Amino acid sequence: MTNVPAAEKSTLPTNSSVGMPVIKSNHPRPQLLHDGVSDGHSSGSVIADSRPEPTPEFLAELAETSIKLEAAAPQEILRWAVDRFGDKFTMATAFGPEGMTIIHMLAQFSPKTPIFNLDTGYQFPETLELRERVLQKYGIAVEMKQPINTVEEYERINGGPVYKVDPNRCCGDRKLAVLHEAAKGMLAWASAIRRNQSPDRAVAPIVGWDKKFNLVKVSPLANWTKQQVWKMIRDEDIPYNSLHDKGYMSIGCWPCTRETTFGEDERSGRWSGSAKTECGLHSQG
Ligand code: SF4
Repeated sequence: MTNVPAAEKSTLPTNSSVGMPVIKSNHPRPQLLHDGVSDGHSSGSVIADSRPEPTPEFLAELAETSIKLEAAAPQEILRWAVDRFGDKFTMATAFGPEGMTIIHMLAQFSPKTPIFNLDTGYQFPETLELRERVLQKYGIAVEMKQPINTVEEYERINGGPVYKVDPNRCCGDRKLAVLHEAAKGMLAWASAIRRNQSPDRAVAPIVGWDKKFNLVKVSPLANWTKQQVWKMIRDEDIPYNSLHDKGYMSIGCWPCTRETTFGEDERSGRWSGSAKTECGLHSQG
């Protein structure tokens, strides 16, 4: 297993303590589509429905920051995001191992960063249990964001389970639409993707503009490996989904997830047997 570098332990370095450039100094705050003003700190004030505007200057800042943060520890990347976007920085989690490590990191220095789950109604009970375990261990209440229709209503309206006939639409209705709603009033979101999970994710910047959701997207684990994630989980006793001990490598909704066998790609159990590989949250198409 890959050793976790000392800088990635939970005693967190600040930018200055590890010699990283302090990135936020030379750039204006993100321009907003409305009249709100972000001061970029936890106490920052941004009017509720403001969104950052992807001006050329802002995009240049993000690109420059992303390059500077390429070699930074995930905690450092998260610290930058918390300093830069304050309480308008949020995190979406499916309670996967990567997301659990980010929750663990945020709990150390920014436990008030709002964290939410896209609660499709089709998640495994073992996944939902993690909300309680996070609450008990960290005192963080992950907000469960639900689609407008319950599963029963949704299937009745559509004459049965949509995931069987049009999984892209099902993900669109039960995940993407919910994230669009959750993004209101936010400036940036953290995702737990790793570049070596899939070709789609291989090109993810550390920090970039997410045009799908009109937010800055921060991917602190982009450069981490699966081994690094699991080492941290074990070393620091981070809660994880018990289904991982039963052969599930990547876990989404139960109708679209199967166990995997030794040697299979880590995401091969998702939408198995179809061409679909992503729910659409992390692709720009
Ligand atoms: Fe629907 Fe499957 Fe997508 Fe879940 S993963 S929202 S069940 S298509």
